[in-house]
Amino acid sequence: MKKLTTLFAILIATTIWSQTDSRIYDIIDAVSEERIKEDVTKLANFGTRHTLSDTISQTRGIGAARRWIKSEFENIATTCNNCLEVFYQKNFIKKGDSDRIVKDVEIVNVVAIQRGTTYPNRFIIMSGDIDSRVSDANNFTSDSPGANDNASGMAGTIEAARVLSKYQFENSIIYVGLSGEEQGLYGGQGLATYAKEKGWDIIGIFNNDMIGNISGVDGIVSNVDFRIFSEPVPPTETDKERMARRFYGGEVDGISRQLARYVHKNTQTYMPEMNPMLIYRLDRFGRGGHHRPFNDAGFAGIRIMEAHENYTQQHQDIRFENGINYGDVLEHVNFAYAKKLTAVNAINLASLAWAPPAPREVKIGGIVAPAAKMQWSKVHGAVGYKIYWRDTTAPTWDHSRYVGDVSEHTLTGVVIDNFFFGVASVGKDGFESPVVFPNGIFR
Ligand SMILES: [Zn+2]
Repeated sequence: MKKLTTLFAILIATTIWSQTDSRIYDIIDAVSEERIKEDVTKLANFGTRHTLSDTISQTRGIGAARRWIKSEFENIATTCNNCLEVFYQKNFIKKGDSDRIVKDVEIVNVVAIQRGTTYPNRFIIMSGDIDSRVSDANNFTSDSPGANDNASGMAGTIEAARVLSKYQFENSIIYVGLSGEEQGLYGGQGLATYAKEKGWDIIGIFNNDMIGNISGVDGIVSNVDFRIFSEPVPPTETDKERMARRFYGGEVDGISRQLARYVHKNTQTYMPEMNPMLIYRLDRFGRGGHHRPFNDAGFAGIRIMEAHENYTQQHQDIRFENGINYGDVLEHVNFAYAKKLTAVNAINLASLAWAPPAPREVKIGGIVAPAAKMQWSKVHGAVGYKIYWRDTTAPTWDHSRYVGDVSEHTLTGVVIDNFFFGVASVGKDGFESPVVFPNGIFR
């Protein structure tokens, strides 16, 4: 029996890292196109969800919309033994705070926390936006269905909560509807500030903003392409860190970029039919999204969205002009595609929520030596560690080596100058933390 057990252990140890986890496939299959369609339709039918719109009506305006979102999260909670903590997170903004705040307004986010069993204060976040707009950013009365921008991201977030609430995770997951996006990223700023005050340990945020359009102004129609935007390095870095990059590298290896690579890799593993595109920039040229306030606060955050946008269907008054149907209406949303991007989110939320924490201290050595050396601080919950490296011009971590439950390793024959390196922790089921780029050196 002892021998059998040992054999079994060896089998597990030798095979576990090459395997995928069947629960992830179950999660992909559980995401429902039909429910996403219902929810986008429901949201679009609130008439307008403009941040400054009516809050009293039960049928029209952002008040009705956020009450419905909250009740949806509460409904989900009743099916999982109250596994979601649902609440409003509010910030009062005074008239004139910006030229898009033309009256006093309460910016209200709807938050649902699925509390982790081992690390209740560590969070991976998925966000969509509640609010919508038309051509004039301050027009809060005209019909503004915002079906793609951003009922799609909001519906995807609610659907991810439905699917993942059937599971338990070591880390906490937050599903959130943010408000005030179109008026200047107010909801994200409010929640990022709240997170700092509460001392939340944030793994990162997946900001979903427009995940339902497959037919672009570029003429390309694709239901598999999507973009992952990430800034190169945090805006909160110190001068010392910036100077160190000149000598040790890291220009394209900030925490948000590692999160983007994580999503890219995990998608290729579990949904190889998709075409994730790593975009090496904060957001679209000169444009904004709700991951940015989290980046501003020093948290990792990425934007997940369609690859091919259609500008006649964003921020437009609904009208027919010069042969073009303008407006962000239901008919332009591809729900099968929104389902796929929701699944991309769900599998990455689950993988990170099942993963151990990333090592905090990662040091690299090997200057003028024939081998690169890595040292790191061990973390609770990891069964081992994986060293990643890549060519300096490569976007993705193309090489890796699982080195077991140790806190240092020497990569013989790998010259430090010619690659970039990082370390991830690995949990008992094979789920990995994001890769940590070295934050120290040793001789
Ligand atoms: Zn928008």
